[in-house]
Amino acid sequence: MAGGLDWDRSLQNYVDRFASIRYTYASITHTRAMISMTSRAKEDYLKAIYELEEKVGVAKTTQLAERLGVRAATVTEMVQRLSKEPDRTITYKHHQGVRLTHTGRQKAIEMVRRHRLLETFLHQTLGLSWDEVHQEAEVLEHHLSERVTEAIDRHLDFPKFDPHGEPIPDADGNMAVMPQLVLSDIDTGSRFIIIRVDPVSSEFLAYLDDLAMGIGTTGRLLSKDEDHGPLSIELDDRDNAPRKTLKRQIADRLYVEAL
Ligand SMILES: [Zn+2]
Repeated sequence: MAGGLDWDRSLQNYVDRFASIRYTYASITHTRAMISMTSRAKEDYLKAIYELEEKVGVAKTTQLAERLGVRAATVTEMVQRLSKEPDRTITYKHHQGVRLTHTGRQKAIEMVRRHRLLETFLHQTLGLSWDEVHQEAEVLEHHLSERVTEAIDRHLDFPKFDPHGEPIPDADGNMAVMPQLVLSDIDTGSRFIIIRVDPVSSEFLAYLDDLAMGIGTTGRLLSKDEDHGPLSIELDDRDNAPRKTLKRQIADRLYVEAL
């Protein structure tokens, strides 16, 4: 039965080859998925670390997990991996948190630039509301070439702040100082102008819309409860019930300049 054996062999050969082609194909598609996932995740991590460093000086893995909406164990694994990559964007020491290197900081600032330019473009040019633009920019920022980023910047005439009042880095990475003074910090009786709001929750921004409050809103702090209770303010805009009572958590997310 020599013929039968040959046939079996060639069939086996065929099956092996098919399996190997299929395996190669699967590993290519798998690798592609891994690459795109990793570069997007990496950009998200660098930006989140940057924002935490700006806010609290150092990025702890628990805070990163909260910000990125993933488990702390996932963050630890990811930052360990990132810290070992040859382009050296971060350093990570257990119990000390994550720090951006010079390279990592440059990359993060580039992501922040794309994000804030996109938010401004979506708001000013396309008319999306300020509570919609953050989520959209989170997706689009990963697909923006340098050429399109520069074109948007030119189209908007090189804006210095995004719709939430956060500074936009220029092409060299320079930007205005992030406003840090919140409404709860100013003295009773002081006049204020809102220059930045915390943009992370769209519910918060929609709530401010309901109160007819936003960037450029001016008013006076009438009183504040020193024990982290509510504040009462009076807005200059007389059309919209100027007197408001704000919870402390709200006032802590409104960045102002005292006038
Ligand atoms: Zn945003």
